[in-house]
Amino acid sequence: MLWPYNRRMELRIAYLYPDQLNIYGDRGNILTLHQRCQWRGIAVQILTPGLGDRLNPEEADLYFMGGGQDSQQIQVCEDLHKVKADSLRTAATLGAVFLTICGGYQLLGHYYKPHNGDELKGLSLIDAYTVAGNTRFIGNVAIERPNGQRVVGFENHSGRTYLGNGVTPLGKVIHGHGNNGEDGFEGVAHDNFYGTYLHGSLLPKNPQLADEIITKALQRRYGSVQLAALNDTLEQQAHQRALALKS
Ligand code: GLN
Repeated sequence: MLWPYNRRMELRIAYLYPDQLNIYGDRGNILTLHQRCQWRGIAVQILTPGLGDRLNPEEADLYFMGGGQDSQQIQVCEDLHKVKADSLRTAATLGAVFLTICGGYQLLGHYYKPHNGDELKGLSLIDAYTVAGNTRFIGNVAIERPNGQRVVGFENHSGRTYLGNGVTPLGKVIHGHGNNGEDGFEGVAHDNFYGTYLHGSLLPKNPQLADEIITKALQRRYGSVQLAALNDTLEQQAHQRALALKS
């Protein structure tokens, strides 16, 4: 049944660690989610829990973590386990959606092992682990999702991520390196967990993915949701342009 009638839906987004996890314009994902909801008359609340802030696991529909360098990941990782991990696991069981980019994606799995330094323990919300390689993967990326949808972005990481058996990647690499430069896959899209190496920002030029995430996040509290169509001419132009970039 479609939500309505005359009540306005509201999307509650928690942008975790905005001061630490925001590189290559990752914050643009929040702006896109916000704007695409506003265009449809869906209210948006954005929470920005930082270091030391506790979470109410029932509050947010969508958790976002951006990318960060190893030094930021160390700060975040300590706080995650001291202050937020239990609430995030509970939120996941309550149907919250997670969108994580690069450094944030690495912390969604079991661990990230930097080049020099101790293993950083992740949340284990997905069965995956990441180990830093000797070189960085830098450049434009295009991938194809199992439904044929293309997703474009820009990667810059040394981490190589390996997904466990049965964990669904976000897509197959068309060009670029993706999760590890070996198995031909990029990111993860498993149940309500999305992770990817794609910055750029990701969502402004991948509007279908943005809407998929908004829909899933709203479903937690509103049941079946069908978003109104938007005019995505400009977004599609940006997408096509990025798709044509090969390096
Ligand atoms: N430190 C991680 C890596 O290089 C994450 C980098 C990022 O978030 N861009 O693999």
